[in-house]
Amino acid sequence: MLVKVWNDNVHSFKQEIHGVNYVIPAKEYIEIEEDEADRLVKRISPIVLDGNDVPLPTSYKMLRIDADDLKRNRHLRENKTRSGSYICQACGYVAANKWELDGHSLNEHKNQFDDLDEAKMAIQNDRAKRHKG
Ligand SMILES: [Zn+2]
Repeated sequence: MLVKVWNDNVHSFKQEIHGVNYVIPAKEYIEIEEDEADRLVKRISPIVLDGNDVPLPTSYKMLRIDADDLKRNRHLRENKTRSGSYICQACGYVAANKWELDGHSLNEHKNQFDDLDEAKMAIQNDRAKRHKG
């Protein structure tokens, strides 16, 4: 999932990681995958000194991942987990997949379904009797 990586510096940022050239203009952002963004932000970028051994502000790495994007991605992941799980409507059993849930229903709730059918039949028979009578 994509996130924005902001460059908070007033100077543009450049770094090469594994053959990928990252360029983020001053006070701008780029949008990349979250794990890639994590790598980029954590990777140390050398501070460059000027002739008087004073660090050059242009070499400051001032990157951050957009907090709202991280929050949104975490939320999306949580929702995906929830909707991706298979929960038995009868007893709340959580199955790993559709097949396991089907197997669970057959094993654990077969009797309930049988009862339901019998109940329906009983009602129909009752109605039929009343019509005849
Ligand atoms: Zn169940």
